[in-house]
Amino acid sequence: MTIALFYPENHFLHDSNRIAKNNLYNNYWQTLQPHPENPDRLTRVLTDLQQTGYLDKVKILHLPSLCSIYDILRVHSTDLLQKIYQLSSQHGGWITAGTYVSPGSFDTIQCSAAGIGGLISEILCERADNAFALIRPPGHHATTRESMGFCLVNNVAIGATCALQNSDIKRILIVDWDLHHGNGTQEIFEARRDVMYFSVHAQNTYSNDPDRKGDWKEMGVGDGIGYSMNIPLPAGCKDIHYITVFHKLLIPLAETYQPNLIIISAGFDAHSDDPFSCMQITTFGYREMLRVCRYIAKRYCQNRLLLILEGGYNLNALSASVQACFDVLLDTSTIKLTPLTAHFEDNISIEVNGLINSLRGNHPIFR
Ligand SMILES: [Zn+2]
Repeated sequence: MTIALFYPENHFLHDSNRIAKNNLYNNYWQTLQPHPENPDRLTRVLTDLQQTGYLDKVKILHLPSLCSIYDILRVHSTDLLQKIYQLSSQHGGWITAGTYVSPGSFDTIQCSAAGIGGLISEILCERADNAFALIRPPGHHATTRESMGFCLVNNVAIGATCALQNSDIKRILIVDWDLHHGNGTQEIFEARRDVMYFSVHAQNTYSNDPDRKGDWKEMGVGDGIGYSMNIPLPAGCKDIHYITVFHKLLIPLAETYQPNLIIISAGFDAHSDDPFSCMQITTFGYREMLRVCRYIAKRYCQNRLLLILEGGYNLNALSASVQACFDVLLDTSTIKLTPLTAHFEDNISIEVNGLINSLRGNHPIFR
């Protein structure tokens, strides 16, 4: 197995501490020191991967140049990119309460977009089986026209749009296991059939947009009806609940949709130790979710699987979860799914089973 890895060496440019101090600091997020989405996240993950020897086992992608800005403009409006560019080339500032642009942020997002494009090429040209983009800031809240929720541009959407330029790729399955609903990814692809968006997230944790709250009844719009699936889980869910959702919804969905490529919005903020988490996910849970995705990728996508980092704000949990994912990617044994044996009758399990049954009974993909 060849695993390709990309990380933007200039990610430290995106840092709220680099914003000019004469800007107004007038809300909770702007006074936080450090901001939860800061360079230590990636620095820590990469240092640990180096020390544990993982970096020696993967193919690290070094880029000859930055991406064309058109790769980002295929997803986002010119106005949004201009706004980020202007703040980035001056003193930085805040786009929303928690979302910042620092001097140089534009270089970071451009470099990350280029890295994602590079990893897609590695996979599609069969120079790598799987790939992981360890990038920041995260992206799944960014919509066509707006940055929000720590996200400037939608990295997963840039990756999917880039892959669709290749004639072999007709259908992409995006699996979003970040704690929060990826309202931006849903908005970008909700009217399309060539990208299926599957999101498992905590109920009501990111709901700025009343039309995109991640409710299970949101299944796409227009031509895209049936090509979004939202699973809003109640607080307190454990590994077994997420794994059950993957077995009972994601596997049959993939069987019907038959994707050519899987892209994972790999956020690790549902980990039990994460400061934002209301869930009880452990590294075992992330390992099992990724095993299901690899199983699907092997069955339908010639192994083609790309992970892109989203959230994850407890450094120990983030680093351990990323390493657990590399364990799964580097595992050369035959992927066998762990059978679902646990049987719970607690209130959370009853609610999760009800949600699964509602989707299996009502979602167009299952009819
Ligand atoms: Zn998140």
